[in-house]
Amino acid sequence: MITIAEHVDVLIVGAGLSGIGAACRLRTRLPGKSFAVLEARDTIGGTWDLFRYPGIRSDSDMFTLGYPFRPWKNPKAIADGPAILSYIRETAMAYDVDKHIRFGHRVVSAAWSSADARWTVEAVCEGTPRTFTCRFLYLCSGYYDYAGGHVVDFPGRAEFSGPVVHPQHWPSDLDYDGKRVVVIGSGATAVTLVPAMAERATHVTMLQRSPTYIVARPGNDALADRIRALLPEGLAHRVVRGKNVVLSTIFYQLMRRLPEKTALLLRKRVAAELPASIPVDPHFVPEYNPWDQRLCLVPDADLFSAMRAGKADIVTEQISRFTADGVLLASGRLLPADVIVTATGLRMVAFGQISLSVDGREISSGDQRVYKGMMFGGIPNLAWCVGYSNNSWTLRADLSSQYVCRLLEHLDRTGRSYCVPDPGMEPSNAELRPVLDLQSGYVRRAAAALPKQGSARPWRMRQNYILDFTDMRLGRIDDGVMRFGRAGDKTRERSGRF
Ligand SMILES: Cc1cc2nc3c(=O)[nH]c(=O)nc-3n(C[C@H](O)[C@H](O)[C@H](O)COP(=O)(O)OP(=O)(O)OC[C@H]3O[C@@H](n4cnc5c(N)ncnc54)[C@H](O)[C@@H]3O)c2cc1C
Repeated sequence: MITIAEHVDVLIVGAGLSGIGAACRLRTRLPGKSFAVLEARDTIGGTWDLFRYPGIRSDSDMFTLGYPFRPWKNPKAIADGPAILSYIRETAMAYDVDKHIRFGHRVVSAAWSSADARWTVEAVCEGTPRTFTCRFLYLCSGYYDYAGGHVVDFPGRAEFSGPVVHPQHWPSDLDYDGKRVVVIGSGATAVTLVPAMAERATHVTMLQRSPTYIVARPGNDALADRIRALLPEGLAHRVVRGKNVVLSTIFYQLMRRLPEKTALLLRKRVAAELPASIPVDPHFVPEYNPWDQRLCLVPDADLFSAMRAGKADIVTEQISRFTADGVLLASGRLLPADVIVTATGLRMVAFGQISLSVDGREISSGDQRVYKGMMFGGIPNLAWCVGYSNNSWTLRADLSSQYVCRLLEHLDRTGRSYCVPDPGMEPSNAELRPVLDLQSGYVRRAAAALPKQGSARPWRMRQNYILDFTDMRLGRIDDGVMRFGRAGDKTRERSGRF
């Protein structure tokens, strides 16, 4: 006989920014519901605790990356990792959700039973299996593998005489004072690391295979500061948040609709920041359009300041191999290095690497069709919290958590025990694309394992907060696609999948 460690109405997986936000929403909106948060690690914070590399910071503003219900009070709009971590921890304590977290519990599988209308969730705690049951399973497990980032097997790696470090596993005792550093990568992590390491290193070279769009922005938001000085805290947070949503939506739409003009503008702005020794072409002229991949934000133009000070430079070339003394490029040039940082990206995963099954049928993540960007055709009472790729994560994560609350309220009101997007109404295979619509390497590498989206609502993952807000906060729950039932109901067989 299986011993059930705990039964709750809602089981949240993950105590990162999203899981804590979800728990706060549940606690305040549905105080009668029992819930627990299963967290594989021993601490709160997810991303903002895991990454410890120098300079770690957000690249979106904290008024929108923070929760709508908890004002961001720090003067810095673009915040460092420790400040974000404190904010998450303090929120968990303020909303009294910290005591609901079961640390050290890695969820490995979850099985739905239609007969009981409940999930049976298996977790491992200190090597011992523990079983939980719940009515609704909410995966706030992030989007990448915590075990390790994307590792490129550079030839000659073992020959290099110094340390080779991946930003996901930053050694706290890494000594790079007065050393020559090569940072391999062109994404947000590389552009953060280069100026931060340049403060102590002799010289830092950013070595990229291909360029990324980079935009400099003040780390402080002067207008937000004025608004915060004038208005009460909560109102100021809402106003600044609204302002940033509108501005970021306008900028994104402009870039997608006028890619050539905006690409030129971005290049011009970068060129104005660069020293004469570093030409904008090829280092800052990507082959794709703005927002085909995530735009990289450089707060206070710190990357360019380090370049102007002669502390950092950039090389755009293929790597031939590592040698004992550094990195040999395809052109034959040797980049001397004492330390190499491989900022080569994350390994994306779906559903927190949890094996899911519905009435004994195994669920393959790559075959699922996303409904409203958070649920899946034929999988009852389960949501996956995924943020925006073109805007602050929390904007979408919080809409998703509020939608879960609305669903639970609807079930209670109508006396039903489960809801499930009707797989019979899923989009055809011909229209499918991966759930994250970016051409970035980390998305392409994981495309087969990622759930798919269609081309029209509700099966399309929109990257537009304003449209999603109206849909998820105000739209009908009973939209003709979502089906509802009670434990033991004979389930619909429209597509043969559920
Ligand atoms: C370096 C870096 C910088 C970023 N900067 C920004 C930014 O500026 N703006 C932005 O919008 N986004 C940014 N992101 C994306 C970022 O991940 C999100 O903003 C946000 O932190 C995600 O929160 P989350 O809680 O959904 O996921 P995570 O922070 O990844 O937390 C997930 C939690 O779930 C736990 N978990 C996972 N699987 C299981 C399991 N099977 N069982 C139990 N527990 C599990 C993990 O241990 C973790 O604690 C950044 C990401 C990285 C890596």
